[in-house]
Amino acid sequence: MSEIDSIRSQVISCVKCSLSKTRTNAVPGKGNPKADILFIGEAPGRNEDLKGEPFVGSAGKILSEVLESAGLSRDDVYITNVVKCRPPNNRIPLQEEKDACDQYLSKELEIIKPKIICIMGNTAYGSLLHGNSITKNRGKIIEKDGQKYFLTIHPAAVIYNQELKSVLKDDMKTLVETLDRLKKDINHTDNK
Ligand code: URA
Ligand code: SF4
Repeated sequence: MSEIDSIRSQVISCVKCSLSKTRTNAVPGKGNPKADILFIGEAPGRNEDLKGEPFVGSAGKILSEVLESAGLSRDDVYITNVVKCRPPNNRIPLQEEKDACDQYLSKELEIIKPKIICIMGNTAYGSLLHGNSITKNRGKIIEKDGQKYFLTIHPAAVIYNQELKSVLKDDMKTLVETLDRLKKDINHTDNK
């Protein structure tokens, strides 16, 4: 079994926090384990809980659309959440739930070693970078402990405000350009 499949199976049977009692299915990350970009959302919603896959509902449709607009497909990237089980009524995950689930996200990051992590929304921003206003900080590239991060809004924000779709599309374009630049810098250093 591959390392990422082993995390998947641990997540699927996990009972480390009380969300295990209310979920239908745990939702492990999905995508290319060799991805350069890893996207992090908040937690599964209703459709994700029913299907056991991340971003398959209306926020997921928006995510697919903005990825495609930047020339990315979901198979190119890896998509996961801070918390792997649906909080009741989609409430924001509690600190104890984020703490219990953090081991899985840490392992996903260790295995995939993405060149850049795309933080989507305030929950991921708070959990990974202790940030608190994604609206003020979106579009930024951050480096912390040798890892690059790109900040953007959560795709679900577009459901409530359609005008944000162009913001998210612009951010995806910046993200792809940033990755291209990172890859060129790496190749340049390798050739020296
Ligand atoms: N919102 C999220 O944060 N994650 C999902 O998987 C779906 C909706
Ligand atoms: Fe386990 Fe995370 Fe699900 Fe809690 S949310 S039961 S820690 S997989």
